[in-house]
Amino acid sequence: MADTLYMVIPCYNEEEVLNETAVRMKEKFISLSGRGLISPESRIVFVNDGSKDRTWSVIQELHSSAPEFFSGINLARNSGHQNAVLAGLMTVRDMCDMAITMDADLQDDINAIDAMLENYYKGDQVVYGVRSARDTDTFFKRFTAESFYRFMKHMGADVVYNHADFRLMSSRVLKELAGFREVNLFLRGLVPLIGFQSSSVYYERHERFAGKSKYPLGKMLSFAVNGITSFSTKPLKIITGIGFLMSLISAGAIVWAFVVKLLGHSELGWSSTMCSIWFIGGMQILSLGIIGEYIGKIYAEVKQRPRYIVADFINMSAENEKCTKEETK
Ligand code: UDP
Ligand code: MG
Repeated sequence: MADTLYMVIPCYNEEEVLNETAVRMKEKFISLSGRGLISPESRIVFVNDGSKDRTWSVIQELHSSAPEFFSGINLARNSGHQNAVLAGLMTVRDMCDMAITMDADLQDDINAIDAMLENYYKGDQVVYGVRSARDTDTFFKRFTAESFYRFMKHMGADVVYNHADFRLMSSRVLKELAGFREVNLFLRGLVPLIGFQSSSVYYERHERFAGKSKYPLGKMLSFAVNGITSFSTKPLKIITGIGFLMSLISAGAIVWAFVVKLLGHSELGWSSTMCSIWFIGGMQILSLGIIGEYIGKIYAEVKQRPRYIVADFINMSAENEKCTKEETK
């Protein structure tokens, strides 16, 4: 008997693509279950991340049209991509044998799912979808994204190069993922930390089917800063290093100034003084900023607020549990 697959698809203002995504996913599911690769209980779960458009209505319509394929989770407000993915995974973890997370915009190649399943049946608990080409991304997006992966590696976070959030995880891995309680969620860094046997499948990244990217530059930068500061204390070490270097340089400079004074040519340059003031001032503010980033993280973590709040479920057994609880009250 084949294992049960749950697809988790986060959606934020995706009314334009959702129907197409659903059609293609449904076809894929029919083909996979026809070939005995997934069980008929497998589902496609859309997580509505507080969209402002008709996304949730579209999900409801999809469910009514084919309840045996589509389920939905409606978050109480926009919680961000990572939290939406987590909300989906945590809801489905006891209902499936494996879950695949994928963006709603069809940029990830759904045909890579076959290879993911093949690796899963060979015993891999995590299968990463890795982009083999980024030809369809703009030069800017490609450049910033690739620099990000390289920088993350330099900073000591163990991320899979060119892998976003298209990945298969077994229910065993999901169980362990539930144990990571951090509020500053960065799944690409977390999943490799969980361990287990893993592999990668390669696919070509397509263009967004419709609609605009929900990751404008500002959001992308804050995602990168979050990724680095959640997984590495290397920036703090770099600051210490720079501080140490600056102290050495200034010790040298003091000696030099003293010697110059003794030799009697004391008309020391105004420009060098100004430059050092600006430079040191800048370094100090930057260092404080980086330390502040970490303190901000600690602040968010100690509050232990819930990472997402679910408003409604459609066709999930979590919903049934909720109903039974209410009935027995
Ligand atoms: N997304 C989300 N919440 C957000 C932002 C994005 O659930 O606050 C979803 C979005 O609907 C999509 C996925 O996350 O399914 C990735 O977003 P997008 O494709 O816009 O990012 P890009 O591919 O441009 O990096
Ligand atoms: Mg996208």
